[in-house]
Amino acid sequence: SSESKDEQTKSKRWKDAFSSLKKNSRVWCLNSDNTWTLGIVQSVSKEDSIVSTMEEQNVLSQAKSHSHLLQLPSSKLLPANPIILEGVDDLIQLSYLNEPAVLHNLHFRYKEDKIYTKAGPVLIAVNPFKKVPLYTTDLIERFKGKKGENLSPHVYVTAESAFAAMMRDGVNQSIIISGESGAGKTETAKIAMQYLAAVGGGGGVENEILKTNPILEAFGNARTLRNDNSSRFGKLIDIFFEDCGKICGAKIQTYLLEKSRVVQQAEGERSYHIFYQLCAGADKELRETINLRPANDFRYLNQSSCLHIENVDDSLKFQETIDAMDVVQISKEDQESAFAMLASILWLGNITFRVIDNDNHVTVDDNEAVSCAASLLKCSKEHLMEALCTRKMRAGHENIVQKLTASQAADSRDALAKAIYAGLFDWLVDCINKSLEVGKRHSGRSISILDIYGFESFVKNSFEQLCINYANERLQQYFNQHLFKLEQEEYISEGIDWTEVEFIDNQECLELIEKRPLGLISLLDEESTFPKGTDYTLAEKLKEHLTFNGCFKGERSRGFRIRHYAGEVTYDTIGFLEKNRDLLHSDLLHLLSSCEMHLPQHFACNVEQTLLKLTGPVRRSGIESQKQSVATKFKGQLASLMQRLEDTEPHFIRCIKPNTLQQPNLYQEDLVLQQLRCCGVLEVVRIARSGYPTRIAHQNFAQRYHFLLPLSLANQEDPLSICVAILHQFKVRPDMYQVGYTKLFFRAGQVGRLEDIRLQT
Ligand code: ATP
Ligand code: MG
Repeated sequence: SSESKDEQTKSKRWKDAFSSLKKNSRVWCLNSDNTWTLGIVQSVSKEDSIVSTMEEQNVLSQAKSHSHLLQLPSSKLLPANPIILEGVDDLIQLSYLNEPAVLHNLHFRYKEDKIYTKAGPVLIAVNPFKKVPLYTTDLIERFKGKKGENLSPHVYVTAESAFAAMMRDGVNQSIIISGESGAGKTETAKIAMQYLAAVGGGGGVENEILKTNPILEAFGNARTLRNDNSSRFGKLIDIFFEDCGKICGAKIQTYLLEKSRVVQQAEGERSYHIFYQLCAGADKELRETINLRPANDFRYLNQSSCLHIENVDDSLKFQETIDAMDVVQISKEDQESAFAMLASILWLGNITFRVIDNDNHVTVDDNEAVSCAASLLKCSKEHLMEALCTRKMRAGHENIVQKLTASQAADSRDALAKAIYAGLFDWLVDCINKSLEVGKRHSGRSISILDIYGFESFVKNSFEQLCINYANERLQQYFNQHLFKLEQEEYISEGIDWTEVEFIDNQECLELIEKRPLGLISLLDEESTFPKGTDYTLAEKLKEHLTFNGCFKGERSRGFRIRHYAGEVTYDTIGFLEKNRDLLHSDLLHLLSSCEMHLPQHFACNVEQTLLKLTGPVRRSGIESQKQSVATKFKGQLASLMQRLEDTEPHFIRCIKPNTLQQPNLYQEDLVLQQLRCCGVLEVVRIARSGYPTRIAHQNFAQRYHFLLPLSLANQEDPLSICVAILHQFKVRPDMYQVGYTKLFFRAGQVGRLEDIRLQT
């Protein structure tokens, strides 16, 4: 008898688990290739179920044609949502929040060009890769001043609710946009900016703000294999408003520009757009002044077999860039200096070296390239040649001059080119900021828009991926904390027990990276200051000190693995120390400050200032090892970014790339699923599911289901009593719901069950 009792409990448990899988219920069947097919249960048992699957449209219309029967383990089935929930505009409305349900819902909408969907407080934007009629001035007018409640999801609605909240509560707002490369972050940011410009415009400064986009895209975006217009930097723009809601200024902060692209690109990728624009679009006069040639003549541009982008006219784009520079009041003279700097970089790239002795030491070939570079930088050619192929060092009390080898000299040429470009980019951002400087009547209210690189996990991951993924960990933490706070507030205001909800946290991973003295960045910095440190000794050190952390795992030789919130990533420490130090040798620094052109002086001065600030006057040792490391600087930037965001009320937009081909009407499920996991949308769903995601007002619940009750019970006046009667009648388990002051709160799936009963009655 005890055995039969055991059987009974087992059977009950099984029944609970599959209570939603009954004959005729809609289910998702997991295929062997990890895709899902919709079907209808014909019979169900503990081990196997029989499901009839059909062409999707037939399932929707419940036609019986073309169906075929499938026998598969019950564990490969997940409940599907009732048809009335097909394509809902907020995922939280779904009764079943499993992965196929979420994927299917987004796909359903995407097919109808409804690219926006909410996931609770988060806006999901699926990149259409085509023009969709969603961004007209008419639409903007329609959204202005409207409450978000009954509007379909849209960036405009998000921007409007940020604007409205700022005006109503006087609280600064932020719109945080994330997603992987090519997902549509930059376009989404521009759409939000356009909306805010329309709502808060009138003063004229809004046009300047919009024109910062073509400038920063020209200098900071490039063609990559993933995106023809990929942003190679992170950006935060604060837009400031007066009390009356008029825009009065803006400020831009940029993060981690990818400098290496200036001197080297992967096959099929390009350097920054501005180089090709300049070569294609400069008029004859400018061309002569700055010694310009066609792009194909420059090694920095012709090495990756990609000079053009389909459907892009670089010459036209150049005109747009110049027009935009005019609008933000960069003087013609400054523009010309900037273009001269670009040309100097291109000529630097053409500089070649000649071996002069048996130790492979080199000297610079004295040709057109070095002459042009020197004349554009306005420095002496001899000085430039010397700085590129020798290094002054201090050994004890003596100054010695060391000759460089071919590869060292090439590195120093590339380092100079990168430093000039990075300096130019910073200078440009400074110019823009001066021009957008806030008017005197500024009240301090602002909306900030963050367009920052999403989580990255490639076959090979290096220092850049570490920084990017670290930034994403920080943002994810902020995201989680915010969502939990929102949930918590709703629960408290409804008088619901909050302890039932599990908090999801990535603190351990952040500690792994940030903790001092035994965290990744600290150890990296320490190793970067050791002259004898190598990528191998770094890897050893990390393994020695970090293995205690559950998110860290050592790998063979130079490798290590981190368990990020969005998945595990294997990093290779090759180049870590070099990239983290990011040194400009003092010879090159002196060269820049000797230039008679104000821009290079400005760059050198900036570098010098940082050095002076950090190390005082004693720093002529050749290698400037005391400079703040890239990782530490980035950590500081992130900290102040987070500080800034903490003071705002955030609005999250998650961009999704539906396919890797940049093509319209193509939805690759596995790609979407992986992004949903990475960008935290499924996390939102999980947060919701770990609590009580379905919320229905007493009144509505009573109205919808009261007819299921026997007459004697259905006749009560009070909606709450009817609700309670329904819950009892259908034996909804007490741990599956809570009764709030105005709403009922249900665990996922409960309402789907009631809906089934309703349909079968
Ligand atoms: P990265 O991280 O590489 O900078 P991203 O997320 O900023 O990528 P975008 O440059 O914004 O991606 O988008 C890539 C391309 O997708 C755009 O150039 C555009 O062609 C298309 N796209 C994105 N959003 C939209 C949209 N809302 N409507 C039409 N096309 C879009
Ligand atoms: Mg971008």
